[in-house]
Amino acid sequence: MEKALQECFYVLQTDKTGRTNGKPPIRYDKSYKSYLLEGANNHVQQLEGRDSVQKAHDEFIYFCMDEYLKKGASPALLNALNSQVCVVGHQCHVMPIGKKLVAMFVAHIPHNPPPTVFAAYMFSNMTSLGWLDGLKRCKSPECQKFFIGRPNVKWCSKTCGSRSRVRKMRRNSKA
Ligand SMILES: [Zn+2]
Repeated sequence: MEKALQECFYVLQTDKTGRTNGKPPIRYDKSYKSYLLEGANNHVQQLEGRDSVQKAHDEFIYFCMDEYLKKGASPALLNALNSQVCVVGHQCHVMPIGKKLVAMFVAHIPHNPPPTVFAAYMFSNMTSLGWLDGLKRCKSPECQKFFIGRPNVKWCSKTCGSRSRVRKMRRNSKA
């Protein structure tokens, strides 16, 4: 069984008049898996050097991820996403995969969209493809970064884990 078809999605940004001018769409596959984590964690860490567009993009992904982790597909999350992705249209393109042909739906994102439109489209698609399965948040109070991990894992990294264990040991030895 080939199951490659649903492992990716395609996005094209149209020009001012809504045309694509023959530009090829960008293919987002699993190599972009960390895209959402990076966006949300940029906001968690208040990463320097981002412009206002990038900040708005990251903050929107942070909001979605925080809500999704706490409440799943809540009405608030669905409203936030649908109010953004509703401007995205899809066009059918036929593409070759080897000698076979495959009909693909390419998202047409309007020219210069608000950064939240792009962020919402990325979040919606990547999450529905399962790329956020196993989402967690680091239990270290000074970190709080999002990460993907197994059920029993509490920290995003060895550094955060050992820092927390050292703190716990100090607390216990004082008591
Ligand atoms: Zn951490």
